[in-house]
Amino acid sequence: MTVTTENITQPRSVERVIAGQAVMDGAGVRINRVLTQSLQRRLDPFLMLDNFGSEEANDYIAGFPDHPHRGFETVTYMLTGRMRHRDSAGNEGLLENGGVQWMTAGRGVIHSEMPEQDAGLMEGFQLWLNLPAKDKLMKPWYKDFKGGDVPSFTTDAGATVHVIAGSSHGVAGAVQRDVTEPLYLDVELPAGATFGQLLPAGHNAFLYPYRGSVTVAGKAVAERSMAILANDAAADGIAVQAQEAAKFILVAGKPLNEPIAQYGPFVMNTQQELQQAVEDFRAGRLGEEAHGA
Ligand code: FE
Repeated sequence: MTVTTENITQPRSVERVIAGQAVMDGAGVRINRVLTQSLQRRLDPFLMLDNFGSEEANDYIAGFPDHPHRGFETVTYMLTGRMRHRDSAGNEGLLENGGVQWMTAGRGVIHSEMPEQDAGLMEGFQLWLNLPAKDKLMKPWYKDFKGGDVPSFTTDAGATVHVIAGSSHGVAGAVQRDVTEPLYLDVELPAGATFGQLLPAGHNAFLYPYRGSVTVAGKAVAERSMAILANDAAADGIAVQAQEAAKFILVAGKPLNEPIAQYGPFVMNTQQELQQAVEDFRAGRLGEEAHGA
């Protein structure tokens, strides 16, 4: 595995820092929701980012019982904890420390995401990635990766990088998508270290430190907040400095520039398509055709 350096000549600046919103979802899971509906256009093709993290079983034990999705992809990254996934397409997987689950809901999946622990820390992320109009009704797809199977590398500067999607420093990640070209990195920086990542100027990008704070183009980004990176036309990437030991995720993707219509767990292009999704779900058609597929 060759690790190349990525020297950034013109780093992107920080456009905005967003503090998360404390919300409850599923059957009562406490979440820091950082990417909300009002940012879907700005951060196209990303629709949502939730950060869960608690040592209190009451904050997560109820989990996410059976619920539907249509029209996009969910990417769950479990830093610490155990969660079992089951879906209507017959997929089942146990997601544990460092593991990733990538689910393309396409035309419809009904699934549950339930904790398999009743004490201790559960921490991780769920990211929603939109599908282009042409793929919204595609056959569902699912894959999970154990922590050890997510490609990773360490730079000369000491940054340890897990490449969930896209590629970084010549290392290809676990998942590639050719329309939205998502980049999803988990980066650990020792105190004083810097990490550079090339990014196409037109791709929307954000980072979220979950341990410690980092500095991007002279601007401090506090722990558990999201920095939206400016799409400076002349910028060729991002440079992140850590004054203290820090861990952050960096996410970027190519915007779809298509209409976004959302009703809860359904994300389509028009209201009519949303109505169809609700009707299909109520009639038991959502997810059924995937059975045994
Ligand atoms: Fe779900």
